[in-house]
Amino acid sequence: MPDDLVVQINPTRVAMIGTDSKPCRCISLEGEIGKGVSCSIYEQRSSPCREFEAAWVDGQPNPSCDAARAAYGLPPLEANEPIWPPEGAEVA
Ligand code: SF4
Repeated sequence: MPDDLVVQINPTRVAMIGTDSKPCRCISLEGEIGKGVSCSIYEQRSSPCREFEAAWVDGQPNPSCDAARAAYGLPPLEANEPIWPPEGAEVA
């Protein structure tokens, strides 16, 4: 993780710049929320990012996904709703 993308939040932990304020917007998020976004460091993203699934990706709801969307005025994803990117698409 590049040092210039993180902020120290305690002696042992860092967070992506922009995720420590409300509404959060990670410094590495590119694009327009609600239209189309991507992670500019997708291959280097942290384990919390890797572990986070959008609602219904694994067939389960995700209240954290719903809350993140709500912070930007977006409704929760619905089961079987297509998500971006389509399966198999390459994310920059
Ligand atoms: S996946 Fe990328 S854009 Fe999203 S929070 Fe993690 S580093 Fe930021």
